[in-house]
Formats: sequence, structure tokens, C-alpha cells
Amino acid sequence: MAQQKTLIDAFYEMLKDVHFAEKQALRACKQSAKGATLPELKQAFETHAQETEGHIERLQQVFELIGKAPRAKTCEAMQGIMSEMEEDVEEFGKSPAADAVIIACGQAVEHYEISRYSTLIAWARQLGYSEALTVLGQTLAEEKKADELLATIAARSAIPAAQAKAA
Ligand code: ZN
Ligand code: FE
Ligand code: FE
Repeated sequence: MAQQKTLIDAFYEMLKDVHFAEKQALRACKQSAKGATLPELKQAFETHAQETEGHIERLQQVFELIGKAPRAKTCEAMQGIMSEMEEDVEEFGKSPAADAVIIACGQAVEHYEISRYSTLIAWARQLGYSEALTVLGQTLAEEKKADELLATIAARSAIPAAQAKAA
């Protein structure tokens, strides 16, 4: 009979999911940095691409800390976010709404990551994985910061767009 699955198994499975998601997130950041027209938006994605490389390294650390092989498992959610992004960029990439659409896609990626890291942190706490908890917390902070920066840029660049509409 198959052994009963535990929270330890669930934690490992989610770690594999996030590992896959981070690799996709890296691709998304690089594409968005290329597609963005606002220099500060380009910069935001370039910076977060670098941070994302660090997130992948931190995940390796967490696999090691829990004594499991570092694997990646297809994340259907992130694949969906990525294909929506491709669709949106194809449709709006050359339009005046390009930056707004790229920001929206970026925030979808960040929100998925924030959701997953929040769960991993809660589970690490329950499982007594204190070192993993610290490492995951560092990444979560960077995901939140990236999300907030995108929101700030969106709010700031929405002003000229509203003025243009009123004119
Ligand atoms: Zn990340
Ligand atoms: Fe997933
Ligand atoms: Fe991220």
C-alpha cells in the first residue's frame, strides 16, 4: 500500500513547483526588460531578473537544508501566466498601453510567487524548518518589493495617460 502523504511531502512538492515557477519568472523578467519603454520600468525588471537568479539559488539551499534532491515540477499556473503574457505582449507590445500591460503581467507573476512563498513559509514554520524559513523569507521580501515597485511605476505613469485623455 502507498504510504500516507504528509506535510513534509507537500512542502517538497511545492518547492519543486516554485523552482519551476522561478525559472519562468526569470524568463518573464528578461522579456519584460526588453519590451518595456519607460527606462525605470526596464531597470526594475533588470534588477528583479538579478534577484530572481538569487531566488533560484536560495531554492537550491532549501532543497539542501531539507535533504531532498533539487527538482522542478511543471507549474500549470505559471505556464498560464506566461502564455497570457505572450498573448498580451503580442496584442499590446507596440501600443501606448505597452508598459501598463507589461506591468500587469509582471504583477501577476509576483503575486503567484508571493502566494507560494507565503505558504512555504507557513509550512516551514509548522515543520520546524527554521533555516529554510529565514531563506524563504528573504525571497518573499524581494517579491513584495518588486510588486510594490511595479505598482508605483504604474500609478506614476497613469497620470500622463489620464491627462492625454482629458486633453
Ligand atoms: Zn522570485
Ligand atoms: Fe504552481
Ligand atoms: Fe519575482
